[in-house]
Amino acid sequence: MVKNYKCPGCGASLVYEEGSEFLACPYCETRVALKDLQEEAAGAGEEETDGAGEEETSEAETQDAETSQFQCSSCGGELVTDAYTAATICPFCGSPSILKTRLSGKYKPDLLIPFSIGKEEAKKQFRDWTKSGFFTPKGFYSQNTLESINGIYVPYWLYDFDASVHMEASATRVRTQRKGSYEYTYTDHFRLRRDTETSFDRIPVDASKQMPDDTMERLEPFSYEKLEAFEMPYLSGYMAERTNFESSQLEPRARERAKSYAERATRDTMQGYATVNVTSCNTRLGKRKQEYAMLPVWVLSYRYKNKNWQLYLNGQTGRRIGSLPVDPGRAAACFGICSAVVTVLAGLIWGIVL
Ligand SMILES: [Zn+2]
Ligand SMILES: [Zn+2]
Repeated sequence: MVKNYKCPGCGASLVYEEGSEFLACPYCETRVALKDLQEEAAGAGEEETDGAGEEETSEAETQDAETSQFQCSSCGGELVTDAYTAATICPFCGSPSILKTRLSGKYKPDLLIPFSIGKEEAKKQFRDWTKSGFFTPKGFYSQNTLESINGIYVPYWLYDFDASVHMEASATRVRTQRKGSYEYTYTDHFRLRRDTETSFDRIPVDASKQMPDDTMERLEPFSYEKLEAFEMPYLSGYMAERTNFESSQLEPRARERAKSYAERATRDTMQGYATVNVTSCNTRLGKRKQEYAMLPVWVLSYRYKNKNWQLYLNGQTGRRIGSLPVDPGRAAACFGICSAVVTVLAGLIWGIVL
């Protein structure tokens, strides 16, 4: 049930080497190609995940508060996980453990983007970031402590849609003409009609309850050039969560995004008018397919003045999302200066007007 890839040289646990096609041993420099470790899909494997029915959903809900226990295959220690954990790291010996049953059958991901940013690089990014804030308290860099740093494969549903938009608008164009000492203003009225077809590939929606949705959206984009067919060895050395939602539960979010992109793109074709007033818009969305993918995210938790803070890092591109503590003194000083500037400016403008 628990999978762990052992080093053929020394017996230690192999971990995925970021950005490569290998697992590497942290102790003896042995490297094993991923393709040599690939296993056949467990059981029925390719079941349709959509339409799995009420039963599955309610089962997922009752499991929600549950924890499960597994045994670390390296040291025998008890691993306590929540119902969604698919890969973890033993707190006693540091060995990676992959929970196979949570990655098989309907929970077998279709795709994965491997980590290309490793732990050391993530830590460096964290250090750079903590120095970057304009309002960050002076002692922050030395006082904050990196409590934990976890590379997590976050479950995502990726949706493909075809959108057709029929949009009508009334628009005007204004031109002026001078005749003698008179200036004539002509307003031309137009009825615009647009029919557009747009296809969307792989609109991502994160399927983890723990991860804040808005933060995950701001971590985008992921580069899909690196999407690989899912293979379990990629997870070695990282945490992973299995999807917390059926694809049908998250589809409305993807639909909403597809709809607004398609409508905006259609609206953007109405250029060169003085005014455009959309009078009707009819959008039809057809879903082509959805895929279940795991995407790489670093989560860094740190403590500053008895408060916990989080920084999120796109594990592929290095994009950072998080909030730094603000020094009220420094911020207030700036607001003082800013409002003084505004007052001076206001004074100038009044001076000119008067
Ligand atoms: Zn080894
Ligand atoms: Zn262990």
